[in-house]
Amino acid sequence: SAPVTLLNARAVARTISRMADEILERNDGTERLILVGIQRRGVQIAQRIAAVIQEREGADIPLGALDITLYRDDLQTVGPRPVVGQTHLPKAIDGQVVVIVDDVLFTGRTIRAALDELADFGRPSRIMLAVLVDRGGRELPIHADVVGQTVTVPPGGRVDVFVPELDGKDEVTMVGG
Ligand code: 5GP
Ligand code: MG
Repeated sequence: SAPVTLLNARAVARTISRMADEILERNDGTERLILVGIQRRGVQIAQRIAAVIQEREGADIPLGALDITLYRDDLQTVGPRPVVGQTHLPKAIDGQVVVIVDDVLFTGRTIRAALDELADFGRPSRIMLAVLVDRGGRELPIHADVVGQTVTVPPGGRVDVFVPELDGKDEVTMVGG
């Protein structure tokens, strides 16, 4: 079936702006805040959230990126401690408030893997999760603290998140099953 637009460019901008506000509200400001995007589109969303926070509060939030592909527990060919590419964290995460940012939350396995990987880098005082789209379908006890939009995706359907940096357009669509 034809894709349905969930968020157009203006809606994405408003949603990201609200997500930034919620992160500030829950953290009572920018102190000790670090944003960590999940490669790839979570990274671009984290950058946009950081830009809004910079606008609002005048603070530069440290940004990191995690590539958790090899940490997913359903990739059976990969060992328990693989070398992971494209992961960089801005500074020591000990005692910091780390906000994991991803584009879509589905089963929760990516986030479980991200928590594992973060644990290798240090011990934040708190870890939060912010996602642009929560499509339900969790297989683990994981929830997002900050959600852009919750959608019900029909079986076999999918959400497509397009970001300007990678896709040349800025929108979220859904394709039915
Ligand atoms: P999970 O690990 O929670 O099953 O899936 C989340 C990860 O897979 C996210 O990093 C997300 O990018 C990707 N993902 C899962 N489902 C979808 C979907 O319907 N659309 C998109 N664009 N990504 C998805
Ligand atoms: Mg992803």
